[in-house]
Amino acid sequence: TAPEPIKAADILHRVFGFPAFRGVQEDVVNRVLAGRNSLAVMPTGAGKSLCYQLPAVMMNGTTVVISPLIALMHDQMRAADAVGIRAATLTSVDDNRAETMERFRNGQLDLLYVAPERANSFEFRGLLRESKIALFAIDEAHCVSEWGHDFRPDYRLLRPLMDDFPHVPRLALTATADAHTRADIAEQLGIAPDGIIISGFDRPNIRYAMNGGGKGGVASLVRSLHGAGIVYAQTRDRTEKIAAQIAATGRTARFYHAGMEPRVRAKAQADFVASEDMVMVATVAFGMGIDKPDVRFVVHAGLPKSIESYYQESGRAGRDGDPAVAHMLWSAGDFTRARERLAELPEERRDAERVRIDTLSRLVETHGCRRAILLRHFGEDPPETCGNCDNCLEAPAVKDATELAQKLLSA
Ligand code: ADP
Ligand code: MG
Repeated sequence: TAPEPIKAADILHRVFGFPAFRGVQEDVVNRVLAGRNSLAVMPTGAGKSLCYQLPAVMMNGTTVVISPLIALMHDQMRAADAVGIRAATLTSVDDNRAETMERFRNGQLDLLYVAPERANSFEFRGLLRESKIALFAIDEAHCVSEWGHDFRPDYRLLRPLMDDFPHVPRLALTATADAHTRADIAEQLGIAPDGIIISGFDRPNIRYAMNGGGKGGVASLVRSLHGAGIVYAQTRDRTEKIAAQIAATGRTARFYHAGMEPRVRAKAQADFVASEDMVMVATVAFGMGIDKPDVRFVVHAGLPKSIESYYQESGRAGRDGDPAVAHMLWSAGDFTRARERLAELPEERRDAERVRIDTLSRLVETHGCRRAILLRHFGEDPPETCGNCDNCLEAPAVKDATELAQKLLSA
């Protein structure tokens, strides 16, 4: 089939209710409709889901979506359901699995979400052969690469699985990939290098700030920030302690981590999404797939795992385009500990991890533009200064003063 931009735009309006495609969405959708394999690299919040959901509505057969998290799949299914798309999930917690499999076989599903482990099962392979597949969509595709920040071995088995269906197009999607990881993802999933589509990574409304004084001042920092925000802490224990410290300053604060009762956790998340001023103190378990455009700040109380995780986590701020803040509190000890942990890693993972730590240290220790470092990391060529990070906002004055002093001294 040839690209059908007019019809696709029609579905965009009628089914999804959006006035226009955003960024590279249209390119990606057209490639998919033309039956070509693609890797779409788009920032968090750019609208990756639409790139497979829209073709799923238009194409014959079912779009099989590989997704790494059950919670994410259920959110997506509900969202698809809300606009009238026939979607289902096939996970261990679904008790209607037999019914879903039957609908898949009978061509009654536009979208079917599965985890990679299940996709690779013998049972599922059989099911695929009995059904009509329109498209393979691999969400959070960086999980296929050891260079990515969330390697999942089961993603590696997707390629042979898809190779059994050579006529079904593939669409891999990720928010976070530097050039090296990007090439690796494409190769691991059997996508040609010219199928890689990259959209801009800059989030100009986010003001970046980083502070090497440690994590001590989280509560007082948060006090100076307005609106709803997320504080990322490294342990469950820390999320609870910091939430209490913030609450003591008079702000509404909650915590969120994987050790909580699922129902309590879901309630905390729902309250946060509905709130305009709540502070959610969470481990990185929080945030993936949460649709809250008006998050006004993201604070990292301690070092993130990598520059990719940092970009993704901080990128949850300001998705509505209004001014937002991303503030990281780190300490030299964070780096010492991260480097000590290298020894515990299997030999083959150590190099990648060391590069990750070095890259992070360049980001936090620079006196230059933070945004420039972030964007260059993702292969973009930024201007020298952005005017909206701590260094660009503060350093020029200091630098001018130094230059002035030097001139005076040498005069
Ligand atoms: P990603 O997976 O890239 O982080 P999502 O697919 O979750 O992003 O989409 C983020 C938000 O953008 C969602 O609320 C979605 O409904 C919205 N969105 C997607 N495409 C468009 C569009 N063309 N116009 C307006 N909003 C859109
Ligand atoms: Mg997504």
